[in-house]
Amino acid sequence: MLHFLQINALNEFGLGRWRMVGLWLWLLAVGVFLTTGCRDNVQQFESSPAFGFSGAYPIKAVATVGMVGDIVRAVGGEHIAVEQMLGAGVDPHLYRANRDDVRSILKADIVFYSGLMLEGKMIGTLEKVSLTRPIFAVTDAIPRELLLGHDDVSGHPDPHVWMDPSLWQKCVQHVERQLCQYDPKNEKTYRENSQAYQKQLTGLFDYARESIASIPESRRVFVTSHDAFQYFGRAFQIDVMGIQGLSTESEAGLRRVNELVDLLVARKVQAVFFESSVPQRSIEALVAGVASRGHQLELKGPMFSDAMGAAGTYEGTYIGMIDHNVTLVTRSLGGTAPLLGWQGLLNNAANVTDVN
Ligand SMILES: [Zn+2]
Repeated sequence: MLHFLQINALNEFGLGRWRMVGLWLWLLAVGVFLTTGCRDNVQQFESSPAFGFSGAYPIKAVATVGMVGDIVRAVGGEHIAVEQMLGAGVDPHLYRANRDDVRSILKADIVFYSGLMLEGKMIGTLEKVSLTRPIFAVTDAIPRELLLGHDDVSGHPDPHVWMDPSLWQKCVQHVERQLCQYDPKNEKTYRENSQAYQKQLTGLFDYARESIASIPESRRVFVTSHDAFQYFGRAFQIDVMGIQGLSTESEAGLRRVNELVDLLVARKVQAVFFESSVPQRSIEALVAGVASRGHQLELKGPMFSDAMGAAGTYEGTYIGMIDHNVTLVTRSLGGTAPLLGWQGLLNNAANVTDVN
């Protein structure tokens, strides 16, 4: 019965009847993935290394979010062509795979996603994919004790791990391992590419730590509209507070905004930050509240939280995204960082994007 349902699911992908017969036998062999793919309350589907590449290069890979695509591009180099499902400004928490995505996946040799329920609405699709192709959640490599809790009722860990480049480095190592198993012929290249990329992430981490530490300690408060920066706060020792989910219409929401106003005034914080994908209403209320108390506060941004910047720009890479965030936060809160960021490549001069 289980297998019958699986085959019906596969039929939704448009596989022809003639392929169904062969799949019966094959599914018996891979059925174990279904039972081992779920890990406690975080549904992650991962294939066994029994899958091996045997086709024409470049290997066709599909990645969900840009940050994951960036890892696969960096490690895979010339051997792998990466198709990224979610572009700039798209919220992965709410995204559902469409027909084009499914078509891309069906053409892919291998699939990578972030995991920890970041792609919460795509879990059904990812589960089906695990029947027919190798698929990996990059965050599977992060030890559970390093994950932070998510401040909601779901009980899931906070998925925004890329905000700490030292954690993201573990995901790079995971992609490296999987590619080496999948395509051992190019193992040497994958290892070298991974080493080079990880070296950059180490440099990025050091830059971020040094920059954030240059903000006067009392003003080291990072207020945003969405709760994506907890790992950033832990890694770089800055207090992080988000106001998303709090309605200014509710008494509790107003109380929370008032608490934040008190804190921002008391600590003489110079700026709060908006994100391109999150409505600005609540953070604007915060700015107005602080202004009414006679303290000048700027609204800066956009911060790149769940999606990178535009494709083809420096901010449209993982390193550029973090460089932008770090440089913008540092300069806006009274710290010292170069105008054009760590690598001198930022396009928006990182400190001038002020909507007021
Ligand atoms: Zn998020």
